[in-house]
Amino acid sequence: MPRTPVLIVGGGPVGLALASELGWRGISCVLIEQGDGTIVTPKMNEVNIRTMEFCRRWRIAEAVHACPFPPDYPLDVVFVTSLSGYELGRMSRPPRMSEKPEPHSPMRLQVCSQMWFDPILQGFARSFPHVCLRYRTRLESFEVSATGVAAKVVDLESGQHERIDADYLVGCDGANSMVRSSLNIELNGETLGHPVHLYFRAPNLLERCGRQPATFFVTVDRNGAWSNVRIIDPLNAMWRLMVLDAGVGSTPETVDRDAYLRRAIGRPIAVEWLGTSVWTRHSVVAERYGGGRIFLAGDAVHQLSPTGALGMNTGIADAVDLGWKLAAMLQGWGQEGLLASYDAERRPIGARNVKLTAEFYGEHGKFDGLAAIEEDSAAGAQVRQRIGESLVSGIGRMFRTAGLQLGYCYEDSPICVPDGTPPRPDDPEDFTPSTRPGSRAPHLWLDDSHSMLDLYGHAFVLLRLGSGAPDASRFEAAAASRRVPLSVITVAKPEAADLYKHRLVLVRPDGHVAWRSDEMPVNPTTIIDKVRGASKIFIQ
Ligand SMILES: Cc1cc2nc3c(=O)[nH]c(=O)nc-3n(C[C@H](O)[C@H](O)[C@H](O)COP(=O)(O)OP(=O)(O)OC[C@H]3O[C@@H](n4cnc5c(N)ncnc54)[C@H](O)[C@@H]3O)c2cc1C
Repeated sequence: MPRTPVLIVGGGPVGLALASELGWRGISCVLIEQGDGTIVTPKMNEVNIRTMEFCRRWRIAEAVHACPFPPDYPLDVVFVTSLSGYELGRMSRPPRMSEKPEPHSPMRLQVCSQMWFDPILQGFARSFPHVCLRYRTRLESFEVSATGVAAKVVDLESGQHERIDADYLVGCDGANSMVRSSLNIELNGETLGHPVHLYFRAPNLLERCGRQPATFFVTVDRNGAWSNVRIIDPLNAMWRLMVLDAGVGSTPETVDRDAYLRRAIGRPIAVEWLGTSVWTRHSVVAERYGGGRIFLAGDAVHQLSPTGALGMNTGIADAVDLGWKLAAMLQGWGQEGLLASYDAERRPIGARNVKLTAEFYGEHGKFDGLAAIEEDSAAGAQVRQRIGESLVSGIGRMFRTAGLQLGYCYEDSPICVPDGTPPRPDDPEDFTPSTRPGSRAPHLWLDDSHSMLDLYGHAFVLLRLGSGAPDASRFEAAAASRRVPLSVITVAKPEAADLYKHRLVLVRPDGHVAWRSDEMPVNPTTIIDKVRGASKIFIQ
């Protein structure tokens, strides 16, 4: 096989997103995946707002919207003693179709199971002739030299061994990453439990339980919050029961799935079983995200409790951050500091998301004094009344995460130019848009269908905002002298100047702010060098 610029190991959603991002940037890559791409028991179900913004940029958002999850299906979260038991609390989340637009984004969170989402990414990556996806191919080992990476792979169908040479190798090879362990990179954190997933088909389950449609049910009985039941595919009546912690040593063969189901539903019910998976809830982040010619992304470097639906979404943001930096190196305008900034920017976000999602999980253990909760008595009513609101405010936190999804900022990034303003509070629930360097550049509708986010992607963008924004020709000349792709865009809309707060804002290809000011800098080349990773100079 001819040498490839980037070899991606792992064709889960993160590897596919990296192949897509590189393909979209015109960079050739080869992705190898040991499986055949089929997803039997999907894990991920919620594609969050930020990932949907990336999908909009890749022009696949419509395909995600068109997935088989009905757009008019209520996304409500309901706290119940069991599906046939008492309702304790409800968070109303209207169907996507009737939802008001997000104030801070052109996109909304989309429920789209991994069994639909991965194939959309696959199809998009495959649409680039310079992207090659090779299934049933496993990485066996690799060696790094000053000039490249030599990988030994095996074709699992034919048994044939092959060598693939690459400029860079990226391990998107999941929780048990062979790439990570080959680099002796440790994971730091804790184990939070041993959940069990039970997948089943049960037509008319909610009607049979006397319930209105909702997407997610948290069950709380006399022993506390112990499971959740989620509809995955309403049209095919496919459900998943997650037992939060079944204890060490459970196996699919030993799990008493009928007993768990009876407890969650509140009575015996016949279902068609579709699959069982036993896993470990980790809350860990790697001590390094790679470096040099080998990088890691996704579950290979962070494993989050799924409380908050952030695992894949965090990994896809890794892929987007790494993608433009690899492209810059391969196109010749990026310098070593750019690749080093991947770890500096993304690892703190991995640690932040790991910590917060563990906190969300911890909310499940905060309820006691529940002995009477299922009783048809005054004492029972009192317990149910007492805990209803605290379930919504506590466990419900994991569904109120606009700040967590959009508010991450690359503090202390070596390729952003700090402007001396203090960090903003990192509130997981509420999102406040900002152009503080390192932040995601804010959204504003420019007309009925175009967002300011649509301006960002292929090149750096220097925005000239408001009346009297300084002439930017010296900045353009500085970028051209370093072959850094830059578009200068004047946005006359007064609301844009109000929102962006400064007259000049430099936005990176990933949509994060690199620099802002009201004045042209004395030497724009210093800024261009900083943002392309060529400078170690601290610029004020
Ligand atoms: C119950 C549950 C619910 C979740 N819900 C959400 C959610 O709603 N939203 C969200 O964002 N996240 C969610 N997640 C997390 C999400 O599923 C993971 O974070 C995501 O799948 C990680 O993607 P990845 O591509 O990094 O790794 P993986 O999906 O694990 O993919 C890694 C791939 O690498 C391949 N591979 C490994 N070694 C090799 C090798 N040597 N050679 C070739 N191929 C190799 C594997 O076969 C695998 O396909 C959930 C997780 C769980 C458990």
